[in-house]
Amino acid sequence: MRLRNITGSREVIAGSSYVVHEEQSCPGKWREIFGNDQPVHIEIGMGKGKFIHTMARLHPEINYVGIEKYSSVLLRAIQKMEEEELPNLKFIRMDAEEITQVFAPGEVDRIYLNFSDPWPKDRHAKRRLPSRQFLDRYHLILKAEGQLEFKTDNRELFDFAVEELAAAGWKARMITYDLHSDEVLMEGNVMTEYEEKFSAMGNPINKYIIYREQ
Ligand code: SAM
Repeated sequence: MRLRNITGSREVIAGSSYVVHEEQSCPGKWREIFGNDQPVHIEIGMGKGKFIHTMARLHPEINYVGIEKYSSVLLRAIQKMEEEELPNLKFIRMDAEEITQVFAPGEVDRIYLNFSDPWPKDRHAKRRLPSRQFLDRYHLILKAEGQLEFKTDNRELFDFAVEELAAAGWKARMITYDLHSDEVLMEGNVMTEYEEKFSAMGNPINKYIIYREQ
């Protein structure tokens, strides 16, 4: 999702109290940042933040951190927070490659990946957010009993993600190739912006929930 560069988005982000700016000093500090010891759930590549904002409203007992690479996109999530401020939601503008510099080992209880960019060329496979390289990074920050949930309508990317699990030492708790047809799995499902768009076009939504073998 590349919005055109929006003039002033960097300045808005720099001045926003919803955004955590001192990424390097974050590891081990998330309790302090939120002022409580609630579990921390993060969405990597949150886009305009519809999913994570809704999750934070529905689950005030969880702290949420939305991570987005582009200022122009993050700006939309900040605007949503200005309309409806939530104390249990923070944002970071960063490339997820640096994720281990922001969270201490075991500091994250759950990771969400939603409709991650597919990077279709083979030589870009390691840039895909469910790749084994990223799974290794997630392993470092996720609690032992934590889990990662991934949704996408892109079947090629999903098949790739499933194939990466064994190589990276992860296991699937649940896999579906048609989330929206499953009443049980749909309980509590919060649609992302892309999920609304692609399911309305008739695309089935794939989802897995995975955990790391100890
Ligand atoms: N999760 C949202 C949804 O489901 O509606 C947005 C999906 S959009 C296709 C993918 C988003 O991930 C884009 O906003 C993109 O900028 C962001 N993104 C891609 N690679 C990233 C990375 N390495 N670090 C942080 N964000 C990333």
